[in-house]
Amino acid sequence: MNGIPAELSERYLQEVAELRCSGPLYDTHVHPYEVLFDRFAYQQDPSLPGVLSMPGKCYLPPAAGPVKFGEVPELGTELRPQRLIDIAVMLLGRMYGSVGPRVFSDQLSRSGLDRVLLLPVAAEGSDAAQFELRMQWIRDLYGDDDRFSLAGSIPPTLEGDQIEGYAAHLKERFAIRAIKCHPVVSGINLGTSCRKTWLEALLEGCHRLGLPVVIHGGRNNPYWACARADFGSLTHLRQLNFSLSGSPVILAHAGMHRCPLTEMEREALPVLKKMLARHDNLYVDLSGLEFEQLKLVLASVAPERILFGSDALYTPQWEVVATTVHALHSLGAGWQQRFLQFSSTNPHKVFENVLLPADSDQKSRPPRETLTSFSSTPLPSP
Ligand SMILES: [Zn+2]
Repeated sequence: MNGIPAELSERYLQEVAELRCSGPLYDTHVHPYEVLFDRFAYQQDPSLPGVLSMPGKCYLPPAAGPVKFGEVPELGTELRPQRLIDIAVMLLGRMYGSVGPRVFSDQLSRSGLDRVLLLPVAAEGSDAAQFELRMQWIRDLYGDDDRFSLAGSIPPTLEGDQIEGYAAHLKERFAIRAIKCHPVVSGINLGTSCRKTWLEALLEGCHRLGLPVVIHGGRNNPYWACARADFGSLTHLRQLNFSLSGSPVILAHAGMHRCPLTEMEREALPVLKKMLARHDNLYVDLSGLEFEQLKLVLASVAPERILFGSDALYTPQWEVVATTVHALHSLGAGWQQRFLQFSSTNPHKVFENVLLPADSDQKSRPPRETLTSFSSTPLPSP
């Protein structure tokens, strides 16, 4: 089987849960609602506190099982007909049929993790007032539970000189811990000089506010094609001066969302390595990568630059945990140390404890000393 049998998945998850005695384990890439099209409306489920469901959807807690590894096809550049988009939205309803604090706390329990950073995304064409309503909804839904930290996002209609003030407002009003930028979803073409300047204004503003930035990276998108899928490609991202922000910048999906393996080896990874060498504040997360892609990233990027992220609910959180552990096993690494580094030591450093609630007794507890002294050598090549 090209995947992980159910019994092995279960064992990995139990072993990860045992690592929690070393400190809280974070997933820094989770979406609190369906962000790609942002079309779903939810109603409170009267029988299940903490669960909101779409009409006709019934919430079922996540159950672990076998993991089947997928492949990443080249998606081409043809415009997707509306019919295919409608089918895609229907399929997304299966993943995001229910949301709410109970949904994500069930994901955490099943995965053996402790806390998540929730990433909303400002929709294409949205303005400050529209995104404010979305942030209020998120805060009302998740804000009472200290396992959930919130990020903000910058509406694409804001001018560059409005970004810092708006991010400061989100920080003040919603206690955001980071800014998420999704060039494809928000319609921000980083291939244009005006959007490059816009993004650099965002980096500078977030640096002054002490906010890390999480940027979607990749050029192959199953929902949008044409030039738009390329808006957040490494080809464009490499042109940006990430050192403008002394605060951490995290390239989601290691900058290679749904990148075919051959392209990754020949073109994308060499670019990523140069970017990481040039900008000390640049990190990657492991979300949205298939098994072979994940192994290649783990074998190529220094472990102190990697954060664990699942992209839940687009992928079940437990599945990404099990796949990451399996990849570390197959690379012959001491997987516990590496997994702790990605999910505990590095998030602590990158977010400077801001992921922890102020009243937590864990705030003053750094990860185990031994965890900070891992080798910076990438893992052996797969
Ligand atoms: Zn994502």
